[in-house]
Amino acid sequence: MSSVIAIVTGANKGIGRAIVRNLAVEYSKSIYPQTTPKLVIYLTSRDVSRGMATLAEVTRELEDKKVLEAEGGPAEIRFGELDITDSTSVNNFKKTVQNVCGEVDILINNAALGTEFQGEPFSYEVVEKTLKTNYFGLKNMTELFFPIIKNPGGRIINLSSGLGRLAALPSKSLRNQFSSQDLTQEQLDRLVNKFQNDVRAGVYAEEGWPTSGMNKAPWTIAYNVSKLAVVAYTKLLARRLDKEGIMINTHVVDPGWVRSDMGGENAPLSVDQGAETPVYLALTQDKAIEINGQFWNKKKPIAW
Ligand code: NDP
Repeated sequence: MSSVIAIVTGANKGIGRAIVRNLAVEYSKSIYPQTTPKLVIYLTSRDVSRGMATLAEVTRELEDKKVLEAEGGPAEIRFGELDITDSTSVNNFKKTVQNVCGEVDILINNAALGTEFQGEPFSYEVVEKTLKTNYFGLKNMTELFFPIIKNPGGRIINLSSGLGRLAALPSKSLRNQFSSQDLTQEQLDRLVNKFQNDVRAGVYAEEGWPTSGMNKAPWTIAYNVSKLAVVAYTKLLARRLDKEGIMINTHVVDPGWVRSDMGGENAPLSVDQGAETPVYLALTQDKAIEINGQFWNKKKPIAW
């Protein structure tokens, strides 16, 4: 019986780490190990030592819960080195997965930057670095892995944010462009590049982009646009899959405000609570996920 293969990006800490652990726990609860394929989860990290340390910790936690059995158990966790902004790293990891596993069942695009730029003035550099990871990195990861995602039956789950709502854009014209049913990949990339260029030229306010983010923190201007682009990309990808008759489900999640390095200590939700919806979408047999390209929060589709 071949294994079910899952990949979680940016899983050395925070919500990504919790997704890995809870995927294993929920999978082991929902199945009979003797008759169900093993779930192999790749805990990936751009930093080998941080990733290996997390792998050891999570493995220990799961062994205590008896989720991982020595032989033929319901779940196995493996480490993968992966920097989503580096095509060589993505391709090397893809080759490893392809050689060892063939296909991928579940891709969870969790890795992102955010509060790294807290305290820095808003600038072109902040925008460029944020978009390079949160939008272009996620998109590149998805496109490079796409050919080895199982069809039919694969799932792609992207982490966005409540800050990636359409309402973050003051300009109606921009809201219409991002949410257009006819938006193409080229147009979306052009919009994202226009944001970067408008910031560089100092005209982003006049061009209708956000001028203040959450709590008026400057870094969230870049973060909000990056997460909005992730929602637009997921919806665009879903339309493309539907049109081409490709039976891979793709969805996008707002995990809520979560206590992690990114969310900070005042956030109301634990990392396990933040992981709930991505894990649900990865494992559920609920027919609701067959309507592709939805924006989810608390295990329910919500308006964008
Ligand atoms: P953290 O900052 O705690 O973790 C982010 C993870 O992404 C880290 O493992 C980090 O690795 C990794 N990462 C960053 N850049 C790259 C890269 N280039 N390649 C691979 N991995 C990378 O964030 P959270 O756990 O809080 O957030 C997880 C997801 O949830 C993100 O997409 C975030 O935007 C989203 N989210 C979080 C909210 C919150 O309140 N926490 C709210 C809404 C959405 P490293 O340790 O090496 O930096």
